[in-house]
Amino acid sequence: MEAHGRAREVDWSPLRGVLQGTVITPGDERLVLANKQFAAGQPIAPPQALVRCRSTPDVRRTLEFLREHALPFSVRSGGHCFADLSTRAPVIVDLAELNHVTCRDGVAVVGPGALSGDVSRSLATEGRVVPTGGCPRVGMGGLSLVGGFGFLGRRHGLTSDQVERLRVVLADGSEVHASRDEAPDLFWALRGSGTAGLGIVTELTLRTFPLEGLTVCNGRWPLTEAAALMALWQHHAPEADPDVNLELGLVAPDDPEAPCHVELFGVLLGSDARVAGHRETLARWLGPLAKDLRLWNLAPAEAADYVVGLLDHEVSPAWLPSLPYRHTGYQFTRSNFFDAPLSPESIRACVEQFEADRRYAQFRELELIPWGGAYARPDASSSFLHRGARMMLRHTATVGSRSTEALREHGRAWVDASRETVLRHANGHVYQGYADTRLDRFHHAYYGDRLGRLQRIKQKYDPENVFRNAQTLALP
Ligand SMILES: Cc1cc2nc3c(=O)[nH]c(=O)nc-3n(C[C@H](O)[C@H](O)[C@H](O)COP(=O)(O)OP(=O)(O)OC[C@H]3O[C@@H](n4cnc5c(N)ncnc54)[C@H](O)[C@@H]3O)c2cc1C
Repeated sequence: MEAHGRAREVDWSPLRGVLQGTVITPGDERLVLANKQFAAGQPIAPPQALVRCRSTPDVRRTLEFLREHALPFSVRSGGHCFADLSTRAPVIVDLAELNHVTCRDGVAVVGPGALSGDVSRSLATEGRVVPTGGCPRVGMGGLSLVGGFGFLGRRHGLTSDQVERLRVVLADGSEVHASRDEAPDLFWALRGSGTAGLGIVTELTLRTFPLEGLTVCNGRWPLTEAAALMALWQHHAPEADPDVNLELGLVAPDDPEAPCHVELFGVLLGSDARVAGHRETLARWLGPLAKDLRLWNLAPAEAADYVVGLLDHEVSPAWLPSLPYRHTGYQFTRSNFFDAPLSPESIRACVEQFEADRRYAQFRELELIPWGGAYARPDASSSFLHRGARMMLRHTATVGSRSTEALREHGRAWVDASRETVLRHANGHVYQGYADTRLDRFHHAYYGDRLGRLQRIKQKYDPENVFRNAQTLALP
Protein backbone atom coordinates (compact mmCIF):
# COMPACT_ATOMS: atom_id res chain seq x y z
CA MET A 1 0.00 0.00 0.00
CA GLU A 2 1.25 3.50 -0.80
CA ALA A 3 2.16 5.86 1.98
CA HIS A 4 -0.11 8.90 2.42
CA GLY A 5 0.39 10.79 -0.76
CA ARG A 6 1.50 14.33 -0.03
CA ALA A 7 3.35 14.51 -3.30
CA ARG A 8 5.96 17.00 -2.15
CA GLU A 9 9.08 15.71 -0.47
CA VAL A 10 9.76 16.80 3.06
CA ASP A 11 13.31 17.09 4.34
CA TRP A 12 13.05 15.69 7.86
CA SER A 13 16.71 16.20 8.74
CA PRO A 14 16.22 19.57 10.53
CA LEU A 15 13.69 17.93 12.83
CA ARG A 16 15.84 14.84 13.29
CA GLY A 17 18.69 17.11 14.27
CA VAL A 18 16.84 18.62 17.23
CA LEU A 19 14.80 15.70 18.55
CA GLN A 20 15.65 13.38 21.40
CA GLY A 21 13.21 10.97 19.78
CA THR A 22 13.11 9.65 16.20
CA VAL A 23 11.49 10.39 12.88
CA ILE A 24 10.58 7.13 11.17
CA THR A 25 9.88 7.36 7.44
CA PRO A 26 8.90 4.83 4.73
CA GLY A 27 11.71 2.38 4.01
CA ASP A 28 12.56 2.14 7.71
CA GLU A 29 11.25 -1.18 9.02
CA ARG A 30 10.37 0.51 12.31
CA LEU A 31 7.43 2.05 10.47
CA VAL A 32 5.61 -1.10 11.61
CA LEU A 33 5.20 0.85 14.87
CA ALA A 34 2.55 2.87 13.05
CA ASN A 35 0.31 -0.21 12.81
CA LYS A 36 -2.52 -0.80 15.19
CA GLN A 37 -4.05 -4.09 16.21
CA PHE A 38 -7.46 -3.30 14.73
CA ALA A 39 -8.55 -0.70 12.21
CA ALA A 40 -12.10 0.54 11.84
CA GLY A 41 -13.38 -0.55 8.48
CA GLN A 42 -10.67 0.17 5.93
CA PRO A 43 -6.94 -0.56 5.73
CA ILE A 44 -4.81 2.29 7.05
CA ALA A 45 -2.16 3.72 4.71
CA PRO A 46 1.28 3.99 6.33
CA PRO A 47 2.07 7.57 7.33
CA GLN A 48 4.62 9.74 5.61
CA ALA A 49 6.36 9.96 8.98
CA LEU A 50 5.94 8.65 12.49
CA VAL A 51 7.52 11.14 14.86
CA ARG A 52 8.31 9.44 18.15
CA CYS A 53 8.67 12.19 20.75
CA ARG A 54 10.52 11.54 23.99
CA SER A 55 9.92 14.76 25.88
CA THR A 56 7.77 17.88 26.01
CA PRO A 57 10.45 19.90 24.14
CA ASP A 58 10.33 17.19 21.44
CA VAL A 59 6.59 17.76 21.10
CA ARG A 60 7.07 21.52 20.85
CA ARG A 61 9.77 21.19 18.19
CA THR A 62 7.69 18.71 16.22
CA LEU A 63 4.66 20.96 16.30
CA GLU A 64 6.75 23.91 15.16
CA PHE A 65 8.15 21.87 12.25
CA LEU A 66 4.74 20.54 11.18
CA ARG A 67 3.22 24.01 11.29
CA GLU A 68 6.09 25.47 9.29
CA HIS A 69 5.59 22.83 6.59
CA ALA A 70 1.78 22.94 6.82
CA LEU A 71 1.71 19.18 7.32
CA PRO A 72 -1.52 17.57 8.59
CA PHE A 73 -0.91 15.35 11.59
CA SER A 74 -2.56 13.29 14.29
CA VAL A 75 -1.69 12.93 17.98
CA ARG A 76 -1.34 9.43 19.34
CA SER A 77 -0.73 8.08 22.84
CA GLY A 78 -1.76 4.40 22.97
CA GLY A 79 -3.29 4.27 19.47
CA HIS A 80 -6.54 2.64 20.63
CA CYS A 81 -8.96 5.12 19.09
CA PHE A 82 -11.90 3.09 17.74
CA ALA A 83 -12.22 5.49 14.79
CA ASP A 84 -8.47 5.47 13.96
CA LEU A 85 -8.34 9.26 14.37
CA SER A 86 -4.87 9.00 15.92
CA THR A 87 -3.42 6.83 13.17
CA ARG A 88 -5.07 7.83 9.88
CA ALA A 89 -2.93 10.88 9.06
CA PRO A 90 0.06 11.78 6.89
CA VAL A 91 2.16 12.40 10.01
CA ILE A 92 1.64 10.74 13.39
CA VAL A 93 2.94 12.57 16.45
CA ASP A 94 3.50 9.49 18.57
CA LEU A 95 3.84 9.78 22.35
CA ALA A 96 4.44 6.07 23.10
CA GLU A 97 7.91 6.85 24.47
CA LEU A 98 6.57 9.55 26.78
CA ASN A 99 5.64 6.75 29.14
CA HIS A 100 7.16 7.52 32.54
CA VAL A 101 5.26 6.54 35.70
CA THR A 102 6.16 7.80 39.18
CA CYS A 103 4.15 7.85 42.38
CA ARG A 104 4.80 9.85 45.50
CA ASP A 105 2.50 10.53 48.48
CA GLY A 106 -0.40 8.91 46.66
CA VAL A 107 -0.06 11.11 43.59
CA ALA A 108 0.95 9.57 40.27
CA VAL A 109 2.71 11.44 37.47
CA VAL A 110 2.49 9.64 34.13
CA GLY A 111 3.33 10.25 30.52
CA PRO A 112 0.44 10.06 28.01
CA GLY A 113 2.10 7.10 26.27
CA ALA A 114 2.19 5.03 29.48
CA LEU A 115 -0.10 2.05 28.90
CA SER A 116 -2.84 1.37 31.46
CA GLY A 117 -1.44 -2.10 32.23
CA ASP A 118 2.05 -0.76 32.91
CA VAL A 119 0.64 2.01 35.09
CA SER A 120 -1.44 -0.46 37.10
CA ARG A 121 1.57 -2.73 37.71
CA SER A 122 3.85 0.14 38.56
CA LEU A 123 1.40 1.70 41.05
CA ALA A 124 0.77 -1.72 42.60
CA THR A 125 4.39 -1.82 43.76
CA GLU A 126 3.55 1.30 45.81
CA GLY A 127 0.29 -0.23 47.07
CA ARG A 128 -1.77 2.22 44.98
CA VAL A 129 -4.24 2.02 42.11
CA VAL A 130 -5.93 4.43 39.72
CA PRO A 131 -9.22 3.51 38.03
CA THR A 132 -8.65 2.76 34.33
CA GLY A 133 -10.38 0.70 31.65
CA GLY A 134 -10.19 -3.03 31.08
CA CYS A 135 -7.64 -3.01 28.23
CA PRO A 136 -4.00 -2.96 29.33
CA ARG A 137 -2.76 -1.46 26.05
CA VAL A 138 -4.89 1.69 26.12
CA GLY A 139 -2.74 4.80 26.58
CA MET A 140 -3.24 7.05 29.61
CA GLY A 141 -3.28 10.09 27.29
CA GLY A 142 -6.37 9.11 25.31
CA LEU A 143 -8.06 7.41 28.27
CA SER A 144 -7.85 10.44 30.57
CA LEU A 145 -9.29 12.73 27.91
CA VAL A 146 -12.29 10.56 26.98
CA GLY A 147 -13.28 9.72 30.58
CA GLY A 148 -12.16 6.17 31.28
CA PHE A 149 -14.60 3.69 32.81
CA GLY A 150 -13.70 0.30 34.27
CA PHE A 151 -14.08 -2.14 37.14
CA LEU A 152 -13.19 0.42 39.83
CA GLY A 153 -15.25 3.19 38.26
CA ARG A 154 -18.52 2.75 40.12
CA ARG A 155 -16.58 3.10 43.37
CA HIS A 156 -14.03 5.81 42.47
CA GLY A 157 -15.27 7.46 39.25
CA LEU A 158 -13.66 7.89 35.85
CA THR A 159 -9.95 8.04 35.12
CA SER A 160 -10.48 11.68 34.14
CA ASP A 161 -12.07 12.36 37.55
CA GLN A 162 -8.69 11.58 39.13
CA VAL A 163 -6.68 14.05 37.02
CA GLU A 164 -5.27 16.90 39.10
CA ARG A 165 -3.00 18.59 36.60
CA LEU A 166 -2.07 18.38 32.92
CA ARG A 167 0.98 19.62 31.09
CA VAL A 168 -0.10 20.76 27.64
CA VAL A 169 1.59 22.00 24.48
CA LEU A 170 -0.75 24.46 22.79
CA ALA A 171 -1.26 25.11 19.08
CA ASP A 172 1.11 28.11 19.13
CA GLY A 173 3.88 25.94 20.60
CA SER A 174 3.66 27.40 24.09
CA GLU A 175 3.42 25.18 27.13
CA VAL A 176 0.86 25.50 29.92
CA HIS A 177 -0.18 23.62 32.99
CA ALA A 178 -3.89 23.11 33.44
CA SER A 179 -5.38 22.50 36.87
CA ARG A 180 -8.13 23.93 39.07
CA ASP A 181 -5.92 27.02 39.57
CA GLU A 182 -4.03 27.28 36.27
CA ALA A 183 -5.88 27.63 32.95
CA PRO A 184 -9.04 26.30 34.68
CA ASP A 185 -11.10 26.58 31.48
CA LEU A 186 -8.68 24.28 29.63
CA PHE A 187 -8.61 21.95 32.64
CA TRP A 188 -12.41 21.77 32.61
CA ALA A 189 -12.46 21.11 28.87
CA LEU A 190 -9.73 18.50 28.52
CA ARG A 191 -11.24 16.04 31.00
CA GLY A 192 -14.04 14.73 28.80
CA SER A 193 -13.33 16.32 25.44
CA GLY A 194 -11.66 13.20 24.01
CA THR A 195 -10.59 13.77 20.44
CA ALA A 196 -11.59 17.47 20.43
CA GLY A 197 -8.08 18.77 19.65
CA LEU A 198 -7.36 21.47 22.26
CA GLY A 199 -3.65 20.82 22.74
CA ILE A 200 -1.15 17.99 23.19
CA VAL A 201 -1.04 16.60 26.71
CA THR A 202 2.50 15.61 27.61
CA GLU A 203 2.10 14.73 31.29
CA LEU A 204 -0.73 13.89 33.68
CA THR A 205 -0.89 14.10 37.48
CA LEU A 206 -3.47 11.74 38.95
CA ARG A 207 -4.90 11.00 42.37
CA THR A 208 -4.54 7.32 43.35
CA PHE A 209 -6.26 5.04 45.90
CA PRO A 210 -5.01 2.33 48.23
CA LEU A 211 -4.81 -0.97 46.33
CA GLU A 212 -6.95 -3.66 47.94
CA GLY A 213 -7.70 -7.29 47.18
CA LEU A 214 -11.05 -8.00 45.56
CA THR A 215 -13.44 -10.79 44.61
CA VAL A 216 -13.82 -11.64 40.94
CA CYS A 217 -17.18 -12.94 39.88
CA ASN A 218 -17.92 -14.90 36.71
CA GLY A 219 -20.88 -16.83 35.36
CA ARG A 220 -21.40 -18.33 31.93
CA TRP A 221 -24.66 -19.58 30.44
CA PRO A 222 -25.94 -20.66 27.00
CA LEU A 223 -27.44 -17.89 24.86
CA THR A 224 -30.92 -19.24 25.65
CA GLU A 225 -30.55 -17.46 29.02
CA ALA A 226 -29.46 -14.16 27.45
CA ALA A 227 -32.86 -12.41 27.37
CA ALA A 228 -33.62 -13.30 30.99
CA LEU A 229 -30.18 -12.20 32.11
CA MET A 230 -30.34 -8.92 30.19
CA ALA A 231 -33.69 -8.15 31.81
CA LEU A 232 -32.33 -8.90 35.30
CA TRP A 233 -28.97 -7.22 34.77
CA GLN A 234 -30.40 -3.93 33.53
CA HIS A 235 -32.54 -3.59 36.64
CA HIS A 236 -29.92 -4.55 39.19
CA ALA A 237 -26.37 -3.83 37.94
CA PRO A 238 -26.77 -0.05 37.39
CA GLU A 239 -28.37 0.36 40.82
CA ALA A 240 -26.10 -1.99 42.74
CA ASP A 241 -23.85 -0.84 45.56
CA PRO A 242 -20.90 1.14 44.05
CA ASP A 243 -18.61 -1.68 45.22
CA VAL A 244 -20.32 -4.06 42.80
CA ASN A 245 -19.26 -3.65 39.17
CA LEU A 246 -20.67 -6.38 36.93
CA GLU A 247 -20.87 -6.29 33.17
CA LEU A 248 -22.90 -8.62 30.99
CA GLY A 249 -21.50 -9.86 27.67
CA LEU A 250 -23.01 -11.84 24.80
CA VAL A 251 -20.28 -13.62 22.87
CA ALA A 252 -20.39 -15.24 19.41
CA PRO A 253 -17.14 -17.13 18.62
CA ASP A 254 -15.70 -16.74 15.15
CA ASP A 255 -16.78 -20.26 14.19
CA PRO A 256 -20.56 -20.34 13.56
CA GLU A 257 -20.56 -24.02 14.60
CA ALA A 258 -19.46 -23.02 18.10
CA PRO A 259 -22.34 -22.02 20.39
CA CYS A 260 -22.80 -18.44 21.57
CA HIS A 261 -22.88 -17.74 25.29
CA VAL A 262 -23.73 -15.03 27.77
CA GLU A 263 -21.34 -14.07 30.54
CA LEU A 264 -21.57 -12.04 33.74
CA PHE A 265 -18.20 -10.75 34.87
CA GLY A 266 -16.66 -8.20 37.17
CA VAL A 267 -15.76 -7.41 40.76
CA LEU A 268 -17.13 -7.25 44.29
CA LEU A 269 -15.13 -4.87 46.47
CA GLY A 270 -14.85 -4.26 50.18
CA SER A 271 -14.33 -6.20 53.40
CA ASP A 272 -15.17 -9.92 53.63
CA ALA A 273 -18.41 -9.08 55.39
CA ARG A 274 -19.44 -6.60 52.70
CA VAL A 275 -18.54 -9.01 49.90
CA ALA A 276 -20.65 -11.69 51.61
CA GLY A 277 -23.55 -9.22 51.58
CA HIS A 278 -23.01 -8.43 47.88
CA ARG A 279 -22.98 -12.16 47.12
CA GLU A 280 -26.30 -12.67 48.85
CA THR A 281 -27.87 -9.78 46.96
CA LEU A 282 -26.50 -11.12 43.69
CA ALA A 283 -27.76 -14.64 44.40
CA ARG A 284 -31.22 -13.20 45.10
CA TRP A 285 -31.46 -11.37 41.81
CA LEU A 286 -30.01 -14.21 39.77
CA GLY A 287 -32.30 -16.84 41.32
CA PRO A 288 -31.57 -20.37 40.03
CA LEU A 289 -28.89 -19.03 37.65
CA ALA A 290 -26.73 -18.17 40.68
CA LYS A 291 -25.60 -21.78 40.99
CA ASP A 292 -23.33 -21.29 37.98
CA LEU A 293 -21.44 -18.34 39.47
CA ARG A 294 -17.77 -18.74 40.31
CA LEU A 295 -15.83 -16.45 42.62
CA TRP A 296 -12.11 -15.91 43.18
CA ASN A 297 -10.51 -13.86 45.95
CA LEU A 298 -7.53 -11.97 44.59
CA ALA A 299 -4.63 -10.54 46.56
CA PRO A 300 -3.82 -6.86 45.82
CA ALA A 301 -1.15 -7.52 43.17
CA GLU A 302 -3.48 -9.84 41.23
CA ALA A 303 -6.33 -7.36 41.68
CA ALA A 304 -4.19 -4.70 39.97
CA ASP A 305 -3.80 -7.07 37.00
CA TYR A 306 -7.46 -8.05 36.83
CA VAL A 307 -8.92 -4.54 36.83
CA VAL A 308 -6.81 -3.55 33.84
CA GLY A 309 -7.31 -6.71 31.79
CA LEU A 310 -3.94 -8.38 32.35
CA LEU A 311 -5.97 -11.28 33.76
CA ASP A 312 -8.99 -12.54 31.83
CA HIS A 313 -12.54 -12.92 33.22
CA GLU A 314 -11.56 -16.24 34.77
CA VAL A 315 -8.36 -14.79 36.26
CA SER A 316 -5.92 -16.55 33.91
CA PRO A 317 -3.22 -14.44 32.27
CA ALA A 318 -4.95 -12.66 29.38
CA TRP A 319 -3.79 -13.40 25.85
CA LEU A 320 -2.14 -10.30 24.43
CA PRO A 321 -0.82 -10.07 20.88
CA SER A 322 2.86 -9.25 20.49
CA LEU A 323 3.87 -5.66 19.92
CA PRO A 324 4.51 -4.19 17.45
CA TYR A 325 1.50 -5.38 15.48
CA ARG A 326 2.65 -6.89 12.17
CA HIS A 327 -0.87 -7.16 10.77
CA THR A 328 -3.96 -5.11 11.31
CA GLY A 329 -7.36 -6.74 11.82
CA TYR A 330 -10.69 -4.88 11.73
CA GLN A 331 -13.03 -4.00 14.52
CA PHE A 332 -16.43 -2.33 14.15
CA THR A 333 -17.87 -0.79 17.26
CA ARG A 334 -20.92 1.34 17.94
CA SER A 335 -22.48 2.23 21.25
CA ASN A 336 -25.11 4.29 23.05
CA PHE A 337 -25.96 5.42 26.54
CA PHE A 338 -29.38 4.61 28.03
CA ASP A 339 -31.25 6.41 30.81
CA ALA A 340 -33.96 3.76 31.15
CA PRO A 341 -34.20 -0.03 30.81
CA LEU A 342 -34.83 -1.73 27.45
CA SER A 343 -38.28 -3.12 26.73
CA PRO A 344 -38.75 -6.94 26.62
CA GLU A 345 -39.40 -6.68 22.84
CA SER A 346 -36.10 -4.86 22.25
CA ILE A 347 -34.22 -7.40 24.33
CA ARG A 348 -35.78 -10.23 22.35
CA ALA A 349 -34.94 -8.56 19.03
CA CYS A 350 -31.40 -7.85 20.18
CA VAL A 351 -30.73 -11.48 21.19
CA GLU A 352 -32.26 -12.77 17.93
CA GLN A 353 -30.09 -10.41 15.93
CA PHE A 354 -27.05 -11.48 17.88
CA GLU A 355 -27.26 -15.00 16.47
CA ALA A 356 -28.55 -14.11 13.02
CA ASP A 357 -26.52 -14.98 9.95
CA ARG A 358 -23.20 -15.65 11.67
CA ARG A 359 -20.11 -15.93 9.49
CA TYR A 360 -16.91 -17.89 9.64
CA ALA A 361 -13.99 -15.74 10.96
CA GLN A 362 -16.28 -13.06 12.38
CA PHE A 363 -16.37 -12.59 16.17
CA ARG A 364 -19.29 -10.72 17.77
CA GLU A 365 -19.68 -9.21 21.18
CA LEU A 366 -22.43 -7.26 22.89
CA GLU A 367 -21.28 -5.60 26.07
CA LEU A 368 -23.63 -4.15 28.69
CA ILE A 369 -21.80 -1.72 30.96
CA PRO A 370 -23.34 -0.51 34.22
CA TRP A 371 -23.24 3.21 34.97
CA GLY A 372 -24.42 4.87 38.20
CA GLY A 373 -22.28 4.69 41.34
CA ALA A 374 -19.49 7.27 41.37
CA TYR A 375 -19.97 8.05 37.65
CA ALA A 376 -23.22 9.73 38.63
CA ARG A 377 -21.58 12.12 41.09
CA PRO A 378 -22.86 15.56 40.19
CA ASP A 379 -19.85 17.25 38.66
CA ALA A 380 -19.70 20.64 37.07
CA SER A 381 -15.92 20.67 37.10
CA SER A 382 -15.26 18.79 33.86
CA SER A 383 -16.70 18.61 30.37
CA PHE A 384 -17.60 14.91 30.72
CA LEU A 385 -21.31 14.78 29.90
CA HIS A 386 -22.66 11.34 30.68
CA ARG A 387 -23.20 11.50 34.43
CA GLY A 388 -26.86 10.58 34.58
CA ALA A 389 -26.93 7.54 32.28
CA ARG A 390 -28.02 4.16 33.55
CA MET A 391 -25.99 1.93 31.27
CA MET A 392 -24.07 1.73 28.03
CA LEU A 393 -24.34 -0.93 25.29
CA ARG A 394 -21.52 -1.63 22.90
CA HIS A 395 -21.93 -3.75 19.75
CA THR A 396 -18.67 -5.07 18.30
CA ALA A 397 -17.73 -7.26 15.34
CA THR A 398 -14.12 -8.25 14.77
CA VAL A 399 -12.55 -9.87 11.70
CA GLY A 400 -8.96 -10.76 10.94
CA SER A 401 -6.32 -9.04 8.83
CA ARG A 402 -6.95 -11.36 5.87
CA SER A 403 -10.69 -10.82 5.78
CA THR A 404 -12.39 -9.89 2.55
CA GLU A 405 -14.17 -6.60 1.98
CA ALA A 406 -17.43 -8.61 1.93
CA LEU A 407 -16.79 -10.07 5.39
CA ARG A 408 -15.90 -6.63 6.74
CA GLU A 409 -19.10 -5.18 5.26
CA HIS A 410 -21.07 -8.00 6.83
CA GLY A 411 -19.53 -7.25 10.24
CA ARG A 412 -20.31 -3.57 9.90
CA ALA A 413 -23.89 -4.35 8.84
CA TRP A 414 -24.38 -6.65 11.83
CA VAL A 415 -23.19 -3.92 14.21
CA ASP A 416 -25.67 -1.48 12.67
CA ALA A 417 -28.52 -4.00 12.81
CA SER A 418 -27.74 -4.93 16.42
CA ARG A 419 -27.59 -1.28 17.49
CA GLU A 420 -30.89 -0.63 15.71
CA THR A 421 -32.72 -3.19 17.87
CA VAL A 422 -32.23 -1.05 20.98
CA LEU A 423 -31.78 2.43 19.53
CA ARG A 424 -35.25 3.71 20.36
CA HIS A 425 -34.42 3.46 24.07
CA ALA A 426 -31.06 5.27 23.78
CA ASN A 427 -30.62 8.77 25.21
CA GLY A 428 -28.94 10.19 22.08
CA HIS A 429 -25.49 10.42 23.67
CA VAL A 430 -22.43 8.37 22.89
CA TYR A 431 -19.24 7.78 24.85
CA GLN A 432 -16.43 9.82 23.26
CA GLY A 433 -14.11 6.93 24.14
CA TYR A 434 -16.02 4.85 21.62
CA ALA A 435 -15.46 7.34 18.80
CA ASP A 436 -17.84 6.65 15.95
CA THR A 437 -17.32 8.37 12.60
CA ARG A 438 -20.71 7.28 11.34
CA LEU A 439 -22.71 9.37 13.80
CA ASP A 440 -24.61 12.22 12.14
CA ARG A 441 -24.26 14.70 15.00
CA PHE A 442 -21.22 13.36 16.77
CA HIS A 443 -20.39 16.56 18.66
CA HIS A 444 -23.87 16.63 20.13
CA ALA A 445 -23.64 12.90 20.91
CA TYR A 446 -20.34 13.31 22.81
CA TYR A 447 -20.78 16.71 24.42
CA GLY A 448 -24.51 17.58 24.54
CA ASP A 449 -25.02 20.95 26.24
CA ARG A 450 -21.25 21.27 26.88
CA LEU A 451 -20.63 21.85 23.18
CA GLY A 452 -20.92 25.66 23.11
CA ARG A 453 -18.48 26.16 25.99
CA LEU A 454 -16.07 23.65 24.46
CA GLN A 455 -16.15 25.48 21.13
CA ARG A 456 -15.35 28.79 22.82
CA ILE A 457 -12.39 27.15 24.56
CA LYS A 458 -11.23 25.69 21.23
CA GLN A 459 -11.42 29.19 19.73
CA LYS A 460 -9.32 30.57 22.57
CA TYR A 461 -6.59 27.91 22.58
CA ASP A 462 -6.51 26.85 18.92
CA PRO A 463 -7.92 29.76 16.88
CA GLU A 464 -6.25 28.58 13.67
CA ASN A 465 -7.57 25.04 14.02
CA VAL A 466 -4.09 23.50 14.05
CA PHE A 467 -5.37 20.37 15.77
CA ARG A 468 -7.86 18.86 13.41
CA ASN A 469 -9.15 15.48 12.42
CA ALA A 470 -12.56 14.17 11.36
CA GLN A 471 -13.92 14.72 14.88
CA THR A 472 -12.05 17.65 16.37
CA LEU A 473 -14.19 20.56 17.52
CA ALA A 474 -15.24 23.00 14.84
CA LEU A 475 -14.58 26.65 15.62
CA PRO A 476 -17.78 28.50 16.63
C1 LIG B 1 -9.63 -2.77 22.78
C2 LIG B 1 -10.13 -1.52 23.43
C3 LIG B 1 -10.62 -1.57 24.73
C4 LIG B 1 -11.07 -0.40 25.35
N1 LIG B 1 -11.54 -0.49 26.63
C5 LIG B 1 -11.96 0.64 27.26
C6 LIG B 1 -12.41 0.59 28.60
O1 LIG B 1 -12.45 -0.46 29.23
N2 LIG B 1 -12.79 1.77 29.19
C7 LIG B 1 -12.75 2.96 28.52
O2 LIG B 1 -13.10 3.99 29.10
N3 LIG B 1 -12.34 3.02 27.23
C8 LIG B 1 -11.95 1.89 26.60
N4 LIG B 1 -11.53 1.97 25.30
C9 LIG B 1 -11.59 3.25 24.60
C10 LIG B 1 -10.33 4.06 24.86
O3 LIG B 1 -10.35 4.58 26.17
C11 LIG B 1 -10.24 5.24 23.89
O4 LIG B 1 -10.20 4.74 22.58
C12 LIG B 1 -9.02 6.11 24.17
O5 LIG B 1 -9.12 7.31 23.44
C13 LIG B 1 -7.74 5.40 23.80
O6 LIG B 1 -6.64 6.08 24.27
P1 LIG B 1 -5.24 5.89 23.51
O7 LIG B 1 -4.29 6.85 24.07
O8 LIG B 1 -4.88 4.45 23.50
O9 LIG B 1 -5.72 6.27 22.06
P2 LIG B 1 -5.13 7.15 20.87
O10 LIG B 1 -5.69 6.47 19.67
O11 LIG B 1 -3.69 7.34 20.98
O12 LIG B 1 -5.85 8.53 21.08
C14 LIG B 1 -7.21 8.75 20.79
C15 LIG B 1 -7.44 10.21 20.52
O13 LIG B 1 -7.25 10.95 21.71
C16 LIG B 1 -6.57 12.16 21.44
N5 LIG B 1 -5.28 12.09 22.14
C17 LIG B 1 -4.59 10.98 22.48
N6 LIG B 1 -3.51 11.32 23.19
C18 LIG B 1 -3.51 12.66 23.30
C19 LIG B 1 -2.66 13.59 23.92
N7 LIG B 1 -1.59 13.18 24.59
N8 LIG B 1 -2.95 14.90 23.84
C20 LIG B 1 -4.05 15.33 23.18
N9 LIG B 1 -4.91 14.48 22.56
C21 LIG B 1 -4.64 13.16 22.62
C22 LIG B 1 -6.38 12.25 19.94
O14 LIG B 1 -7.46 13.00 19.40
C23 LIG B 1 -6.48 10.82 19.50
O15 LIG B 1 -7.03 10.71 18.20
C24 LIG B 1 -11.06 0.82 24.65
C25 LIG B 1 -10.58 0.87 23.34
C26 LIG B 1 -10.13 -0.28 22.73
C27 LIG B 1 -9.64 -0.23 21.32
